[in-house]
Amino acid sequence: MSKGVLRHLPSVTELIEAGPLKPLVDRVSRNVVVDGIRTFLDEYRQEINRDKNNADVASVAQIAEKIARKILLGERSSLRPVINATGILLHTGLGRAPLAEQAIEEMVTIARDYASLEIDLRTGKRSHRFDAVEELLCELTGAEAAAVVNNNAGATMLTLAALGGGREVIVSRGQLVEIGGSYRLPDVMHVSGSRLREVGTTNKTHAEDYENAICENTAALMRVHPSNFSVVGFTSDVSLESIVRIGKKHGVPVIDDIGSGAVIDMSSYGVRDEPLAAESIATGADVVLFSGDKLMGGPQSGIIVGSRAEIDCIARHPMARALRIDKLTLAALGATLRLLRDPQRAAHQIPLLQLLATPLENLRLRAESIASQLQQVQGIGKAEAAEEEAFLGGGSVPTQQIRTWCVAIDVAGDSLDSFHRKLRTGTPAVVGRVQKGQLLIDLRSVPPRQDEQITRAIAKQAQSTP
Ligand SMILES: *Cc1c(COP(=O)(O)O)cnc(C)c1O
Repeated sequence: MSKGVLRHLPSVTELIEAGPLKPLVDRVSRNVVVDGIRTFLDEYRQEINRDKNNADVASVAQIAEKIARKILLGERSSLRPVINATGILLHTGLGRAPLAEQAIEEMVTIARDYASLEIDLRTGKRSHRFDAVEELLCELTGAEAAAVVNNNAGATMLTLAALGGGREVIVSRGQLVEIGGSYRLPDVMHVSGSRLREVGTTNKTHAEDYENAICENTAALMRVHPSNFSVVGFTSDVSLESIVRIGKKHGVPVIDDIGSGAVIDMSSYGVRDEPLAAESIATGADVVLFSGDKLMGGPQSGIIVGSRAEIDCIARHPMARALRIDKLTLAALGATLRLLRDPQRAAHQIPLLQLLATPLENLRLRAESIASQLQQVQGIGKAEAAEEEAFLGGGSVPTQQIRTWCVAIDVAGDSLDSFHRKLRTGTPAVVGRVQKGQLLIDLRSVPPRQDEQITRAIAKQAQSTP
């Protein structure tokens, strides 16, 4: 029986002429389509051999349809745009900060053609790739010099390698942070080749602790911003000012990893207690490190600003080459920094700042509108607007909640997890958060232009659920 069935399988030549596959040859490529057909037929043959009794052959059109769907799925990038309805504004898993239009345009322009990446067009001579952003970074932070690498983890590792040089770097025990699992300061220190010299205790570190630890083998003092935790109760830490004073007295440079890296005052956005890069520089830190894709709202990058001698030493280290950023990041970073020179303009153009500044009332009205539309949809058990708390994310200000409005959804004939999975894998992909037995669509991280897409995506999934 199976022999007969196998004989009736369509051939590759037959299939490639079939309805849905023929146009794919032009759209995708002949090789990809032929490969897709062969793979499918192989698997199909094996299936028939395995299950001889249940082997009825589908029609050529049905088979072609199945193959075409598989080929199109394979052509779709697994890196896809996502509607972030988690309320977590700097969601590392979702790529942290979305970019400003100006940054996107700049990136596209630079991507299409060759660029003056390391050539000074006036002299025709070799220049440095940081030149495009160094002046802007110095202007925004008051620093003398700047360098940029792939991310802040890279900036930290490079700085420790270049300034530490295998000697000791002193850090308070209260600042040995782990951020996002794979970033742990003691490990980064170890890989950089420098030796971690811990001082103080988890909750209290005093100026004498730094003083007493300094010896001829000390390369630097380092302060790390406890981005993603806070210690409460009986605590004390040493101000940057005091650390700088100790550093100066002993001729040892001070490195300040401020983490999220606010370059403009964020208090009007409800984000408090985040160190400002300019403040660290003004206080006298020799090197200040921060991420470009956290509070700055730019592309993934690690920014290093500080005094000329230290930055030169860092930029010349061999590891700098391994961590260098590409022309696309540089283009996006330059555009973002230009926007940040004018905080008013930044507020209107940088998506992270726009989202943070969206008035609560605006979120409420939008949540109510989406909820009332979804209430009409079959398959939706409940859809109502609910006031909630959102988080900045990206390891920033974990203790500060941001007020927000969500659409709280319950589905009728499906489990919440299964419904959420369908939303995530649909087009557009929508990611919300499941909390207390309901699916929350948090509008704090959603630009208004996506409201309608969200409503449609949820309605479509609810209706297709049996
Ligand atoms: C986020 C963070 C880092 C890591 O920065 P990435 O840009 O994610 O590599 C390092 N240190 C601190 C204090 C941070 O907050």
